[in-house]
Amino acid sequence: MRNKIIIGNWKMNKTPKEVKAFFKEFNKATFKARPKTIYGIAAPACDLSYALDERPNKKFVISSQDISKHLSGAYTGEISALMLKEMGVTYAIIGHSERRTYHHETNKDINEKAKIALENGICPIICVGETLEEYESKKSKKVVETQVKECTKGLDVTKVVIAYEPVWAIGTGKTATNDYAQQMCAVIRKLTSDKTLIQYGGSVTPESIEELLKQPDVDGALVGGASLKVDSFIKLIEKK
Ligand code: PEP
Repeated sequence: MRNKIIIGNWKMNKTPKEVKAFFKEFNKATFKARPKTIYGIAAPACDLSYALDERPNKKFVISSQDISKHLSGAYTGEISALMLKEMGVTYAIIGHSERRTYHHETNKDINEKAKIALENGICPIICVGETLEEYESKKSKKVVETQVKECTKGLDVTKVVIAYEPVWAIGTGKTATNDYAQQMCAVIRKLTSDKTLIQYGGSVTPESIEELLKQPDVDGALVGGASLKVDSFIKLIEKK
């Protein structure tokens, strides 16, 4: 049976002080985590070292929100897999829809980033998902198939995480139905493998996660808003 994986995507939220406050409160809380579940957060680059220092233990994984497609050199503002690895970061979100939209990242860029991440011991969380327009014109399956094929080209798909995040559901409060999430994750399963971990993301809450995780091809969640507060984050990852 596959593990589950629940990652909070903090996006551009929390100063270092706020990161410390989050973990101070988190580390005091008593709860039992879901069994066989990888959990953690993706912090802004400047917060990663604070999160690594303050996390309760190594079971709590720390992810970056992006990664460079280069290992070193004249790439101002970028952070490489080598740097992340040495710090203790083990996952990198790659190709989030906000990076695709605001930074014009293409499937080819995402493929190159995922490749360098894998080669250097960082597990890529590759984000795919259709826009509202594509959803309404019934192109979701085709769009997502193309994204998955192009983003995973030449990669060992058993070693990557795919986050299916319909763009119309991110930060909108409009979550996909469980059936729809399952259907789309099944499409991704066919293009990857039985071992690949496939997350759903898009307005997931402590209330909606339970049914979502019961879907056979949904192996976890990538969660934005509901991961920012300690009590809500704990509700996402605690054993029911
Ligand atoms: C995300 O940031 O990937 C996300 C799914 O955000 P939210 O849960 O807020 O929709």
